[in-house]
Amino acid sequence: MVSDVNDLAIEHVTHRFGVILAVDDAELSVGAGEVVCLVGPSGCGKTTLLRVAAGLEPLQEGRVTIGGAVMADTRNAVPPENRNVGIVFQDYALFPHLTVRGNIAFGLQKHNTAERDRMVAQALERTGMSGYAATYPHQLSGGQQQRVALARAIAPRPRVVLLDEPFSGLDTSLRHRVRDQTAEILRDSGIATLMVTHDPEEAMYLADRIAVMNRGRIRQVGSPDEIYLKPADTFVAAFFGDVNRFEGVVENGHVQTVLGPVATNGTANGAKVDVLVRPEALSIAETPDHANGTIASARFLGRSSLIDVRLSDGEATRVRVHVPGRYLPKAGAQVSVTRNDTQTFVFTRTAKA
Ligand code: ATP
Repeated sequence: MVSDVNDLAIEHVTHRFGVILAVDDAELSVGAGEVVCLVGPSGCGKTTLLRVAAGLEPLQEGRVTIGGAVMADTRNAVPPENRNVGIVFQDYALFPHLTVRGNIAFGLQKHNTAERDRMVAQALERTGMSGYAATYPHQLSGGQQQRVALARAIAPRPRVVLLDEPFSGLDTSLRHRVRDQTAEILRDSGIATLMVTHDPEEAMYLADRIAVMNRGRIRQVGSPDEIYLKPADTFVAAFFGDVNRFEGVVENGHVQTVLGPVATNGTANGAKVDVLVRPEALSIAETPDHANGTIASARFLGRSSLIDVRLSDGEATRVRVHVPGRYLPKAGAQVSVTRNDTQTFVFTRTAKA
Protein backbone atom coordinates (compact mmCIF):
# COMPACT_ATOMS: atom_id res chain seq x y z
CA MET A 1 0.00 0.00 0.00
CA VAL A 2 2.81 2.44 0.92
CA SER A 3 5.06 3.15 -2.07
CA ASP A 4 7.23 5.84 -3.61
CA VAL A 5 4.40 7.06 -5.85
CA ASN A 6 2.68 8.44 -2.77
CA ASP A 7 3.50 12.03 -2.07
CA LEU A 8 3.19 11.43 1.65
CA ALA A 9 3.82 8.06 3.27
CA ILE A 10 3.62 7.41 6.99
CA GLU A 11 5.08 4.00 7.78
CA HIS A 12 4.74 2.19 11.13
CA VAL A 13 4.80 5.42 13.14
CA THR A 14 4.49 4.98 16.90
CA HIS A 15 4.59 7.93 19.28
CA ARG A 16 4.49 8.11 23.08
CA PHE A 17 4.19 10.95 25.56
CA GLY A 18 5.63 9.30 28.66
CA VAL A 19 3.35 6.34 29.30
CA ILE A 20 0.64 7.58 26.89
CA LEU A 21 0.67 5.69 23.60
CA ALA A 22 -0.63 8.53 21.39
CA VAL A 23 0.01 6.86 18.01
CA ASP A 24 0.29 3.09 17.65
CA ASP A 25 1.94 1.70 14.50
CA ALA A 26 0.18 4.05 12.06
CA GLU A 27 0.42 3.46 8.31
CA LEU A 28 -1.08 5.93 5.88
CA SER A 29 -0.32 7.28 2.43
CA VAL A 30 -1.63 10.22 0.41
CA GLY A 31 -1.25 10.58 -3.36
CA ALA A 32 -0.87 13.76 -5.41
CA GLY A 33 -4.17 15.62 -5.73
CA GLU A 34 -5.78 13.33 -3.17
CA VAL A 35 -7.64 14.49 -0.06
CA VAL A 36 -7.37 12.07 2.87
CA CYS A 37 -9.26 12.86 6.07
CA LEU A 38 -7.93 11.54 9.35
CA VAL A 39 -10.96 11.24 11.58
CA GLY A 40 -11.55 10.02 15.11
CA PRO A 41 -12.72 11.06 18.57
CA SER A 42 -10.95 13.62 20.74
CA GLY A 43 -7.60 12.42 22.05
CA CYS A 44 -7.22 9.50 19.61
CA GLY A 45 -3.88 10.79 18.27
CA LYS A 46 -4.82 12.65 15.07
CA THR A 47 -2.92 15.87 15.80
CA THR A 48 0.12 13.97 17.05
CA LEU A 49 0.30 11.98 13.81
CA LEU A 50 -0.02 15.18 11.75
CA ARG A 51 2.70 16.87 13.79
CA VAL A 52 5.04 13.90 13.35
CA ALA A 53 4.42 14.01 9.57
CA ALA A 54 5.19 17.76 9.55
CA GLY A 55 8.31 17.35 11.67
CA LEU A 56 6.89 19.52 14.47
CA GLU A 57 7.07 16.51 16.76
CA PRO A 58 10.29 14.45 16.60
CA LEU A 59 9.73 10.99 15.15
CA GLN A 60 10.28 8.20 17.66
CA GLU A 61 9.53 5.03 15.68
CA GLY A 62 8.75 4.36 12.01
CA ARG A 63 9.38 6.46 8.92
CA VAL A 64 7.92 9.44 7.04
CA THR A 65 8.63 9.94 3.34
CA ILE A 66 7.56 12.67 0.92
CA GLY A 67 7.76 12.00 -2.81
CA GLY A 68 9.80 8.89 -1.96
CA ALA A 69 12.47 10.88 -0.05
CA VAL A 70 12.92 10.04 3.61
CA MET A 71 11.94 13.00 5.80
CA ALA A 72 12.35 11.21 9.10
CA ASP A 73 13.37 7.82 10.36
CA THR A 74 14.87 6.73 13.66
CA ARG A 75 18.29 8.17 12.67
CA ASN A 76 17.68 11.32 10.62
CA ALA A 77 15.12 14.09 10.35
CA VAL A 78 14.67 16.83 7.76
CA PRO A 79 13.59 20.06 9.52
CA PRO A 80 9.93 21.08 8.98
CA GLU A 81 10.81 24.05 6.74
CA ASN A 82 12.65 21.78 4.29
CA ARG A 83 9.92 19.14 3.95
CA ASN A 84 7.97 20.83 1.17
CA VAL A 85 4.90 20.78 3.41
CA GLY A 86 2.31 23.52 3.99
CA ILE A 87 0.41 23.55 7.26
CA VAL A 88 -2.96 25.08 8.17
CA PHE A 89 -3.55 25.16 11.91
CA GLN A 90 -6.92 25.20 13.65
CA ASP A 91 -6.44 28.82 14.82
CA TYR A 92 -4.80 29.81 11.47
CA ALA A 93 -1.76 31.19 13.37
CA LEU A 94 -1.54 34.32 11.20
CA PHE A 95 0.98 37.00 12.23
CA PRO A 96 -1.20 39.88 13.53
CA HIS A 97 1.41 42.59 12.80
CA LEU A 98 1.81 41.59 9.14
CA THR A 99 -0.57 42.30 6.27
CA VAL A 100 -2.07 39.47 4.26
CA ARG A 101 0.73 39.94 1.72
CA GLY A 102 3.33 39.91 4.52
CA ASN A 103 1.87 36.75 6.03
CA ILE A 104 2.05 34.90 2.72
CA ALA A 105 5.49 36.25 1.75
CA PHE A 106 6.96 35.27 5.13
CA GLY A 107 7.67 31.70 4.07
CA LEU A 108 9.09 32.72 0.68
CA GLN A 109 12.31 34.40 1.87
CA LYS A 110 14.55 32.23 -0.28
CA HIS A 111 12.96 33.56 -3.49
CA ASN A 112 13.90 36.90 -5.06
CA THR A 113 11.46 39.81 -4.81
CA ALA A 114 9.92 39.44 -8.26
CA GLU A 115 9.37 35.72 -7.83
CA ARG A 116 8.02 36.21 -4.32
CA ASP A 117 5.52 38.81 -5.56
CA ARG A 118 4.40 36.42 -8.29
CA MET A 119 3.93 33.54 -5.83
CA VAL A 120 1.99 35.73 -3.38
CA ALA A 121 -0.26 37.04 -6.18
CA GLN A 122 -0.93 33.51 -7.42
CA ALA A 123 -1.79 32.20 -3.96
CA LEU A 124 -4.12 35.16 -3.36
CA GLU A 125 -5.82 34.60 -6.69
CA ARG A 126 -6.27 30.85 -6.09
CA THR A 127 -7.94 31.53 -2.77
CA GLY A 128 -10.04 34.45 -4.03
CA MET A 129 -8.29 36.94 -1.74
CA SER A 130 -6.59 39.20 -4.33
CA GLY A 131 -8.37 42.29 -3.04
CA TYR A 132 -7.04 41.88 0.51
CA ALA A 133 -3.23 41.97 0.11
CA ALA A 134 -2.82 45.14 2.20
CA THR A 135 -5.34 44.14 4.88
CA TYR A 136 -4.37 43.02 8.41
CA PRO A 137 -5.74 39.75 9.84
CA HIS A 138 -7.91 41.46 12.49
CA GLN A 139 -9.79 43.26 9.69
CA LEU A 140 -10.84 39.94 8.13
CA SER A 141 -13.75 37.60 8.88
CA GLY A 142 -13.07 34.05 10.09
CA GLY A 143 -13.64 32.64 6.61
CA GLN A 144 -11.26 35.16 5.06
CA GLN A 145 -8.59 34.43 7.67
CA GLN A 146 -8.95 30.73 6.87
CA ARG A 147 -8.36 31.49 3.18
CA VAL A 148 -5.25 33.54 3.99
CA ALA A 149 -3.95 30.63 6.06
CA LEU A 150 -4.57 28.37 3.07
CA ALA A 151 -2.92 30.88 0.69
CA ARG A 152 0.13 30.98 2.97
CA ALA A 153 0.30 27.18 3.02
CA ILE A 154 0.08 26.73 -0.76
CA ALA A 155 2.18 29.74 -1.84
CA PRO A 156 5.52 27.88 -1.76
CA ARG A 157 3.89 25.20 -4.00
CA PRO A 158 4.32 22.35 -1.54
CA ARG A 159 3.80 18.69 -2.42
CA VAL A 160 1.85 18.11 0.77
CA VAL A 161 -0.58 20.22 2.80
CA LEU A 162 -1.53 19.21 6.34
CA LEU A 163 -4.62 20.76 7.90
CA ASP A 164 -5.70 20.40 11.54
CA GLU A 165 -9.46 21.01 12.02
CA PRO A 166 -9.28 23.94 9.57
CA PHE A 167 -13.00 24.74 9.59
CA SER A 168 -13.88 24.32 13.25
CA GLY A 169 -13.88 28.07 13.97
CA LEU A 170 -16.46 28.83 11.27
CA ASP A 171 -20.24 28.82 11.59
CA THR A 172 -22.18 26.10 9.74
CA SER A 173 -23.11 27.81 6.48
CA LEU A 174 -19.71 29.46 6.06
CA ARG A 175 -17.99 26.18 6.93
CA HIS A 176 -19.79 24.36 4.12
CA ARG A 177 -18.80 26.99 1.57
CA VAL A 178 -15.19 27.36 2.71
CA ARG A 179 -14.54 23.61 2.88
CA ASP A 180 -15.80 23.13 -0.68
CA GLN A 181 -13.49 25.86 -1.93
CA THR A 182 -10.54 24.57 0.09
CA ALA A 183 -10.83 21.00 -1.20
CA GLU A 184 -11.20 22.25 -4.76
CA ILE A 185 -8.12 24.46 -4.53
CA LEU A 186 -5.99 21.68 -3.06
CA ARG A 187 -7.17 19.05 -5.58
CA ASP A 188 -6.68 21.41 -8.52
CA SER A 189 -3.17 22.22 -7.34
CA GLY A 190 -2.27 18.50 -7.35
CA ILE A 191 -1.31 18.72 -3.68
CA ALA A 192 -1.43 15.67 -1.41
CA THR A 193 -3.75 16.74 1.40
CA LEU A 194 -4.06 15.20 4.86
CA MET A 195 -6.80 16.83 6.91
CA VAL A 196 -7.63 16.15 10.53
CA THR A 197 -11.25 16.35 11.59
CA HIS A 198 -13.31 14.88 14.43
CA ASP A 199 -16.47 15.16 12.30
CA PRO A 200 -17.36 11.96 10.37
CA GLU A 201 -19.82 13.81 8.15
CA GLU A 202 -17.18 16.32 7.12
CA ALA A 203 -14.80 13.45 6.30
CA MET A 204 -17.50 11.68 4.25
CA TYR A 205 -18.17 14.89 2.36
CA LEU A 206 -14.61 15.98 1.62
CA ALA A 207 -12.38 12.95 1.45
CA ASP A 208 -11.29 10.75 -1.42
CA ARG A 209 -10.22 8.36 1.33
CA ILE A 210 -10.84 8.35 5.04
CA ALA A 211 -8.52 7.03 7.76
CA VAL A 212 -10.43 6.23 10.95
CA MET A 213 -8.40 6.42 14.14
CA ASN A 214 -9.20 5.30 17.67
CA ARG A 215 -6.94 5.03 20.71
CA GLY A 216 -3.83 5.72 18.64
CA ARG A 217 -4.55 3.07 16.02
CA ILE A 218 -5.73 3.55 12.46
CA ARG A 219 -8.64 1.13 12.40
CA GLN A 220 -9.59 1.40 8.72
CA VAL A 221 -8.59 3.29 5.58
CA GLY A 222 -11.02 3.42 2.68
CA SER A 223 -13.30 5.44 0.45
CA PRO A 224 -16.31 7.05 2.16
CA ASP A 225 -18.43 4.25 0.63
CA GLU A 226 -16.27 1.48 2.04
CA ILE A 227 -16.09 3.06 5.48
CA TYR A 228 -19.85 3.51 5.72
CA LEU A 229 -21.03 0.36 3.96
CA LYS A 230 -18.22 -2.04 4.92
CA PRO A 231 -16.93 -0.89 8.30
CA ALA A 232 -14.02 -2.95 9.62
CA ASP A 233 -15.24 -3.14 13.21
CA THR A 234 -17.89 -2.00 15.68
CA PHE A 235 -16.02 1.22 16.43
CA VAL A 236 -15.95 2.34 12.79
CA ALA A 237 -19.59 1.31 12.22
CA ALA A 238 -20.83 3.22 15.26
CA PHE A 239 -18.59 6.27 14.68
CA PHE A 240 -20.00 6.79 11.19
CA GLY A 241 -23.68 6.45 11.94
CA ASP A 242 -26.33 5.45 14.40
CA VAL A 243 -26.63 1.67 14.95
CA ASN A 244 -28.98 -0.73 16.72
CA ARG A 245 -26.79 -3.25 18.52
CA PHE A 246 -27.72 -6.85 19.36
CA GLU A 247 -25.65 -9.67 20.81
CA GLY A 248 -25.84 -13.32 19.84
CA VAL A 249 -24.06 -16.60 19.25
CA VAL A 250 -23.39 -18.09 15.81
CA GLU A 251 -25.23 -21.32 15.02
CA ASN A 252 -24.97 -22.94 11.58
CA GLY A 253 -23.93 -19.77 9.78
CA HIS A 254 -26.57 -17.56 11.38
CA VAL A 255 -27.21 -15.58 14.50
CA GLN A 256 -30.72 -15.20 15.86
CA THR A 257 -31.77 -11.64 16.66
CA VAL A 258 -35.06 -10.08 17.72
CA LEU A 259 -35.38 -9.04 14.08
CA GLY A 260 -34.91 -12.52 12.67
CA PRO A 261 -31.83 -14.55 11.65
CA VAL A 262 -28.77 -12.77 10.25
CA ALA A 263 -26.21 -14.62 8.07
CA THR A 264 -22.74 -14.56 9.61
CA ASN A 265 -20.62 -15.41 6.56
CA GLY A 266 -17.81 -17.62 7.75
CA THR A 267 -17.81 -16.84 11.48
CA ALA A 268 -17.18 -20.04 13.49
CA ASN A 269 -20.06 -21.83 15.19
CA GLY A 270 -20.35 -20.84 18.84
CA ALA A 271 -18.64 -17.45 18.35
CA LYS A 272 -20.15 -14.57 20.30
CA VAL A 273 -20.96 -11.73 17.92
CA ASP A 274 -22.30 -8.19 17.85
CA VAL A 275 -24.91 -7.51 15.20
CA LEU A 276 -25.15 -3.84 14.23
CA VAL A 277 -28.10 -2.65 12.17
CA ARG A 278 -28.36 0.92 10.92
CA PRO A 279 -31.76 2.54 11.55
CA GLU A 280 -32.22 3.07 7.79
CA ALA A 281 -32.03 -0.71 7.24
CA LEU A 282 -35.30 -1.10 9.13
CA SER A 283 -38.77 -0.33 7.88
CA ILE A 284 -42.09 0.07 9.64
CA ALA A 285 -45.61 -0.85 8.63
CA GLU A 286 -48.73 -0.11 10.65
CA THR A 287 -50.17 -3.59 10.41
CA PRO A 288 -51.74 -4.59 13.73
CA ASP A 289 -52.26 -8.17 12.48
CA HIS A 290 -48.52 -8.82 12.08
CA ALA A 291 -47.27 -6.40 14.71
CA ASN A 292 -43.99 -7.14 16.48
CA GLY A 293 -43.75 -3.87 18.36
CA THR A 294 -45.33 -0.62 19.48
CA ILE A 295 -44.29 2.97 18.85
CA ALA A 296 -42.49 4.50 21.84
CA SER A 297 -41.84 7.87 20.21
CA ALA A 298 -41.48 9.51 16.81
CA ARG A 299 -39.48 12.64 15.98
CA PHE A 300 -39.33 14.63 12.77
CA LEU A 301 -35.71 15.59 11.98
CA GLY A 302 -36.30 17.52 8.74
CA ARG A 303 -35.09 15.20 5.99
CA SER A 304 -36.19 12.09 7.87
CA SER A 305 -38.09 10.87 10.90
CA LEU A 306 -36.59 8.87 13.74
CA ILE A 307 -38.96 6.32 15.24
CA ASP A 308 -38.29 4.55 18.52
CA VAL A 309 -40.04 1.17 18.67
CA ARG A 310 -40.52 -1.12 21.68
CA LEU A 311 -40.40 -4.69 20.35
CA SER A 312 -42.75 -7.37 21.71
CA ASP A 313 -39.92 -9.82 22.36
CA GLY A 314 -40.56 -10.27 26.09
CA GLU A 315 -37.71 -7.86 26.95
CA ALA A 316 -39.22 -4.77 25.32
CA THR A 317 -36.03 -4.30 23.29
CA ARG A 318 -35.88 -0.80 21.81
CA VAL A 319 -34.89 -0.20 18.19
CA ARG A 320 -34.50 3.01 16.23
CA VAL A 321 -35.87 3.20 12.71
CA HIS A 322 -35.07 5.95 10.20
CA VAL A 323 -37.85 6.76 7.74
CA PRO A 324 -37.33 9.29 4.91
CA GLY A 325 -39.47 12.43 5.10
CA ARG A 326 -42.12 13.20 7.70
CA TYR A 327 -43.65 10.14 9.33
CA LEU A 328 -45.04 10.50 12.83
CA PRO A 329 -47.08 7.50 13.98
CA LYS A 330 -48.80 7.89 17.39
CA ALA A 331 -47.10 6.54 20.51
CA GLY A 332 -48.60 3.15 21.36
CA ALA A 333 -49.53 2.32 17.75
CA GLN A 334 -48.89 -1.31 16.83
CA VAL A 335 -46.37 -1.78 14.05
CA SER A 336 -44.31 -4.42 12.36
CA VAL A 337 -40.59 -3.74 11.98
CA THR A 338 -38.70 -5.56 9.25
CA ARG A 339 -35.01 -5.60 8.45
CA ASN A 340 -33.41 -5.66 5.03
CA ASP A 341 -29.94 -7.16 4.66
CA THR A 342 -28.13 -3.97 3.70
CA GLN A 343 -26.49 -2.00 6.47
CA THR A 344 -26.34 -4.96 8.81
CA PHE A 345 -22.89 -5.81 10.15
CA VAL A 346 -21.70 -8.79 12.17
CA PHE A 347 -18.48 -8.61 14.20
CA THR A 348 -16.94 -11.21 16.50
CA ARG A 349 -17.01 -9.82 20.03
CA THR A 350 -13.71 -8.68 21.46
CA ALA A 351 -13.03 -7.47 24.98
CA LYS A 352 -12.36 -3.88 23.83
CA ALA A 353 -14.68 -3.51 20.82
P1 ATP B 1 -8.31 16.35 19.60
O1 ATP B 1 -9.30 16.03 18.52
O2 ATP B 1 -8.95 16.55 20.94
O3 ATP B 1 -7.35 17.45 19.23
P2 ATP B 1 -6.41 14.29 18.85
O4 ATP B 1 -7.06 13.10 18.26
O5 ATP B 1 -5.78 15.26 17.94
O6 ATP B 1 -7.42 15.03 19.84
P3 ATP B 1 -3.86 14.24 20.19
O7 ATP B 1 -3.87 15.70 20.47
O8 ATP B 1 -2.92 13.74 19.15
O9 ATP B 1 -5.32 13.72 19.88
O10 ATP B 1 -3.54 13.49 21.57
C1 ATP B 1 -3.37 12.08 21.64
C2 ATP B 1 -3.02 11.72 23.08
O11 ATP B 1 -1.73 12.23 23.42
C3 ATP B 1 -3.97 12.29 24.13
O12 ATP B 1 -4.09 11.36 25.16
C4 ATP B 1 -3.26 13.54 24.60
O13 ATP B 1 -3.64 13.85 25.91
C5 ATP B 1 -1.80 13.12 24.51
N1 ATP B 1 -0.90 14.25 24.21
C6 ATP B 1 -0.92 15.02 23.11
N2 ATP B 1 0.06 15.94 23.13
C7 ATP B 1 0.73 15.75 24.30
C8 ATP B 1 1.86 16.37 24.91
N3 ATP B 1 2.52 17.37 24.31
N4 ATP B 1 2.25 15.90 26.10
C9 ATP B 1 1.61 14.88 26.71
N5 ATP B 1 0.55 14.24 26.19
C10 ATP B 1 0.11 14.66 25.00
